[in-house]
Formats: sequence, C-alpha cells, structure tokens
Amino acid sequence: MSVVIVRKALYDYPILRPLFFEIMDSIAAGSLIKKNSRVIIKPNLLAPASPEKAIVTHPLIIKAAVEYVNQKDAIPVVSDSPAVGSFEKILKESGIREALKGLRVEYREFKESEIVPVGEPFKKIELASDAVNADVLINLPKLKTHTQMLLTLAVKNLFGCIVGLRKPEWHLRAGVDREMFARLLVKVYQAIQPTINIIDGILAMHGQGPGKRGEPKELRVLMGSRDAAALDSAVCRMLNIEPCKLLTNKIALEQGLVNEAIHIDGTLPEVGDFKLPEIIPLVFGPHILHGFMRRHLVQRPECTNSLCKFCGECWEYCPAGAITHHKKKIYFNYDKCMRCYCCIEVCPHGALSAHETVTGKIARKILKR
Ligand code: SF4
Ligand code: SF4
Repeated sequence: MSVVIVRKALYDYPILRPLFFEIMDSIAAGSLIKKNSRVIIKPNLLAPASPEKAIVTHPLIIKAAVEYVNQKDAIPVVSDSPAVGSFEKILKESGIREALKGLRVEYREFKESEIVPVGEPFKKIELASDAVNADVLINLPKLKTHTQMLLTLAVKNLFGCIVGLRKPEWHLRAGVDREMFARLLVKVYQAIQPTINIIDGILAMHGQGPGKRGEPKELRVLMGSRDAAALDSAVCRMLNIEPCKLLTNKIALEQGLVNEAIHIDGTLPEVGDFKLPEIIPLVFGPHILHGFMRRHLVQRPECTNSLCKFCGECWEYCPAGAITHHKKKIYFNYDKCMRCYCCIEVCPHGALSAHETVTGKIARKILKR
C-alpha cells in the first residue's frame, strides 16, 4: 500500500524546515540518500515568476530539500528544463538564488538527453541524462490547475525532464488527444521513477492555470510520498475530484502502476472552492469529423492585444507553427493549431486565453439538450 503524508504548512522557514524533514524521514528518504550520492532536485520552474504568483515551486521548499540532502552529506543539484525564459532568470526572479545563498548546492539546467526505450506506442523518448542517471531524484511539483490536463501534479512535473524544444515536439506527436498525452506523461514517469515526491500546495493555483492566467489559492498543505501517482490521487481526493478524471491517474491505474488503496498519514484539508479549468472534450465521434470539430467547435487560443508585449515566447514554442506575427500583432492559423494550449501556458504576460467558438457554443447547447 502506498503511503501519502499530509501536513498543514506555511512558508515560514522555522516551521517549514522541520515539517519538510519530518515528511522526508516518514517516507524513509534518509535511508535512500547515501553519502556523496548525486541528488537531483526537480522543482516546477515553468517560467520566471515571483513566489506569490504560485507558478513555480516556492524557494523555501527547495531550500529545505537542499538542506536535507546536505545533512546526508550528499550532493544536491537543482535542475529543470524550463518552458519559458532562461534557467538563470527563473532562479533569480523566483527568489531561489537568494533563498539558497550560502548553501552547498549545484544548479544545472537539463541540457543533454539520452534515448530511453519506453515501449509502445512511443517506443523511445529522449530524456535528460542527469535525471535518468541520478542516484536519487526528489520531485518537487507545484499544485496547479492545467487547462489541457486538468491539474499539474507530481507525474506531470516530470515532463520537465524532456529537454528544451523536444517538449513542443512531443506535444505535436501526442497531438490533440489528451489521453495520448497522458500516456506519454506516464511513460516519462516510469522512465524517470522519482525517488521522493513532495508537492507544494501551500500556495497552490486554481482557475486557468498553470501560467499567468491562473489565480493563487491558499491551501496550506505539504504532501509527500515515494509514489508520485498515489500522491496525485490523494490530491484529487482532497480537491473532491474523482481520481480517474486526472488522465495520468487513470492510465497509471489501468497499467497497475498505482495501488488504489492509499494510506493517508495526516488529515486532508477540506477544500470547498477550488476552481477547476473548464476541460471540454476536444474531439469525439467518428474520426472523419475530428478535423472539422477541432477547427470549428473546440476552444481556440486568442490574444488580448493590450496585454501582449510581443515577446515572441508563444510563436517560438508553438509545436504546430500556427502563430505568426506582423506589425506588432499576432495571428493564429486555426487550421494548423492543434489546441494544445501550450502558447497560453508559456505566455509570460497572461495575454492568451482559450475562447469558445460560436459554432462550438451552439453545438454544445444542442448536445446538452
Ligand atoms: S501573446 Fe504572450 S507570448 Fe505571445 S508575443 Fe504576446 S506576450 Fe509574448
Ligand atoms: S497556437 Fe497555441 S494551442 Fe495552437 S498549436 Fe500552437 S501552441 Fe498549441
């Protein structure tokens, strides 16, 4: 049976540090971290953002992880491959550099990849060598909503182990099929096998996450487990979401990668007003109609021009090459756009959002009736 530890917590370091250590000890992290071993600490470093925006894992949680590893005389290495902005910029703007000042720690952006065989349907995936070869990997996700996948938790956080522009390539290969994308995420999870997972739910994000469109939401909870999928299930339970609604959970369950029986050590807080993003099935019915549905019925990304700073992050990231720009305006080619919503996720200025088409609204009303 998987065990998930749940503790009430605040970003107050004298309180947070012993709590973090207690969670680590309760899941036997101490015996897993050997002297002189290389320990990769993998937070969610989506984009440059201050801690109160709830976009990245809070620096004090990363600090506690670094101190725990140092206490074991091992080598802590903070790593990720951010979707937006430089690794260094994120370390600075999120306050990580400042919080970790004076501690023995390495920072290493994931850069080199290696091919890992993962079986059907993807066969092989290129993953960050540092993550694949780490003696121990401490996964530190942020609890956030996700407009494409509902939530981004422990399993989804490992998508950051796909290096740089390989990420949008994989979005393109998985296409608009959310279930296929969830299968990819579960394959990455199986390949990386994080040793320890501690989720930062102290200041979580709800609404149109995981980027600037989401809203911070205080939950005051820190949860840890050796089992990333069990941890995700426990978060769903806390948010009153049927665990299989999170597709990575559903697939992990189907593949026998997670035990339905989870022991919760602690009390899951009651969360009544957590806003989920509206997840509309992208396409349904006969395959021949999918192209039409995607173009005319599915929510499409749109730009609020007054918020756009013309930084280029969206068109550089778009896996389908569906965004162009001309005279300080951006344009979408909705025939090419596969509705992955990555552009919304990576826009550092919250200028992009998903909007329903008129035909989509009408079709949905008819279907509801
Ligand atoms: S929409 Fe966002 S990401 Fe794209 S250019 Fe404008 S500000 Fe940058
Ligand atoms: S325009 Fe946005 S939603 Fe469409 S394919 Fe590109 S990144 Fe994905």
